[in-house]
Amino acid sequence: MLKKIYKEIKKYDTIVIARHIGVDPDAMASQLALKESILLTFPKKHVLAVGSGGAKFSYLGVLDKLEDIDFSKAMLIIVDTPDQKRVDCPSIDLFSYKIKIDHHPFVEKFCDLEFIQETKSSACQLILELLYKTKLKRNQSIIEKLFIGLVSDTNRFLFNSDRTVFSLISKLLGEYPLDLPSLYQQLYMRPLNEVHLQGYIEQNLKITEHGVGYIILTSDVISKFSADVGSAGNMVNNFNYIDEVLVWLLISEDRKNEVIKINIRSRGPVINTVAEKYHGGGHKFASGARVTTLEEAEFLVHDLDRVCKEYIKEMESKVK
Ligand code: AMP
Repeated sequence: MLKKIYKEIKKYDTIVIARHIGVDPDAMASQLALKESILLTFPKKHVLAVGSGGAKFSYLGVLDKLEDIDFSKAMLIIVDTPDQKRVDCPSIDLFSYKIKIDHHPFVEKFCDLEFIQETKSSACQLILELLYKTKLKRNQSIIEKLFIGLVSDTNRFLFNSDRTVFSLISKLLGEYPLDLPSLYQQLYMRPLNEVHLQGYIEQNLKITEHGVGYIILTSDVISKFSADVGSAGNMVNNFNYIDEVLVWLLISEDRKNEVIKINIRSRGPVINTVAEKYHGGGHKFASGARVTTLEEAEFLVHDLDRVCKEYIKEMESKVK
């Protein structure tokens, strides 16, 4: 499959690389690293990495505008995105050929060629494998981006259950002298106001009967801490390993866009099947959803509480 992807890349002079809406470091690093590698290997090709919201992760690089291209002669590569509605790129049906490279559970087929490896840690890991198993070239800057994306999506290997990641990282660290402290600094530095917001969440987290930790962050609260919806939501990764909490979610009101964004994590119960009922999806233990009313968000909390109850019962029956 990787060789077939390489063959298609070789064929097209114009290639656009897109990823999901609500950009995160794994999605952006994988698209920018792939762009850089294609250009390093084939300097004459026209390659664009597109999508909105990239300014937040400007340490990874700059995204391109989807300028006038002849779609009928161009190829689209979509990374880190399981379904068409979440692709952050217009006119995707106009492209001559489409490839999907993803590590999410399968949702739908919408590309000509789909390389999906659900067990892999990140989209960046899949791009690394593409680079190591084909003639696509790599350099220090490409490897740094892929390392950052992989570290981010696994939350410093905390969510990672795929042991092959470690041999891959060991191989690339042997090949490239990455300055790890400086890369971690780029990824994890944050302003004091965000730390204050995190403190607010810690103080005000509500816990349901069966271990769902949740908080509603209204637009007013988010702006009181001078934060934005995206950075508020990302804090969901900081609430693992609390005795009383099995599943936790941040419910963030985005008044400007009239939507309520929900970031959900779990340390046992499967949550993506619940998220799917609320315009969402994602991985078994890391999902997201979008609703329009607080009432819907409360239904979601209730559903997750039920899933936790069933999980606790199942665990107890295993112990007996
Ligand atoms: P996040 O909490 O934004 O880091 O998202 C966790 C996972 O859920 C990622 O794999 C996202 O791609 C996925 N996800 C987040 N929001 C949605 C949504 N509204 N629909 C489908 N998947 C989502």
